[in-house]
Amino acid sequence: MNTIPLIDLSLQHKQLRNEITSTVQEVIDRGDFILGQDVAKFEEEFAEYCGVKYAIGVDNGLSALELSLRAFGIGPGHEVILPAHTFTATAAAVTFVGATPVFVDVNLETYTIDVHKIEEAITPRTKAILPVHLYGLPADMNVVLGIAEKYNLVVVEDACQAHGAMYKGHRIGGIGNATGFSFYPTKNLGACGDAGIVTTNDANAAEKIRALRNCGQRVKNIHEEHPFNHRLDNLQAAILRIKLKYLDQWIASRRKLAEIYNTLFADTNLERPVELPGYQHVYHLYVIRTQNRDAMQAALKERGIGTAIHYPTPVHLQPYYLKDGKPQYSCPVSEKLVGEILSLPMYPELTEEQVSVVASEIKSLEAKAQYMNFQ
Ligand SMILES: *Cc1c(COP(=O)(O)O)cnc(C)c1O
Repeated sequence: MNTIPLIDLSLQHKQLRNEITSTVQEVIDRGDFILGQDVAKFEEEFAEYCGVKYAIGVDNGLSALELSLRAFGIGPGHEVILPAHTFTATAAAVTFVGATPVFVDVNLETYTIDVHKIEEAITPRTKAILPVHLYGLPADMNVVLGIAEKYNLVVVEDACQAHGAMYKGHRIGGIGNATGFSFYPTKNLGACGDAGIVTTNDANAAEKIRALRNCGQRVKNIHEEHPFNHRLDNLQAAILRIKLKYLDQWIASRRKLAEIYNTLFADTNLERPVELPGYQHVYHLYVIRTQNRDAMQAALKERGIGTAIHYPTPVHLQPYYLKDGKPQYSCPVSEKLVGEILSLPMYPELTEEQVSVVASEIKSLEAKAQYMNFQ
């Protein structure tokens, strides 16, 4: 059977094999392992790519968010507003700094934070909003920034799934006070291990994050800030420098494949991803919604087609965030959509033919389910 996986990283690495192998060997020969020249160069190159003044490489996406919050003094006694439907690391960053995550529901079409529900969640303890550009589609940042300005709040963006995405002419990375990216291997720009970066236009925040990631040092042997180790590995930075050159080409490929899925699904009842005017979706994930999700996922698996659910439980319902076993928030849209979402195969090397195979299997399964519902 010809299988079609959800993602296949080996194709990308086969294509870049010689470039990566020789670069890794050079780093090893130089012994340039910790905060070496590739970290500095990658920071410059990624900042330039995002159109932002500063980029600070860190060890993963969660650290990028955590250090961004710390850089703006967010900690115990503070509340941070974030969407309920996201990867749990978004909330973990808030918990990590000692602040309280306040969960707000998402919009049923975009899956990003419902900006109309932010103001009612604000209290005197609210210090920040943490929107997530989920699946690669930016949140409605103009509204978020407007609310932040009105209530004097910090905006830290979770762009762990949105490298290269655009919002009203701006590349994601320089819109809010700070933005966290992950280079987890499966992300649109992925390392060969863990890695992350913070981008910001704020010189003080950049300087503070640089100290925080490296044992609290601004100057060697003077430990002024909390002494964490959140450094970006130089080998990973060297690999990311190679891959960054291909990011736009990979995004173009994802967008083209998404368009093909969209066209093939146009005559069905399946809910497809939306891309609002002025937004550029980078399709980290291509997610559909159907009432018939579980049966469809099982049937696709039998046919060798890989899918996944990102994510099966909204974060406010995760055991860690319950209080005495009970939810502290009600987010009906998030609670509903987790039973309907399905992520389909999506990676730059996926072929148009494979997309057609996946789409036609899904269409015939959906047609059968609709027919059964009528009986
Ligand atoms: C991947 C991801 C993170 C965390 O990134 P790590 O590098 O795994 O720590 C945070 N938020 C979202 C939305 C993510 O997809």
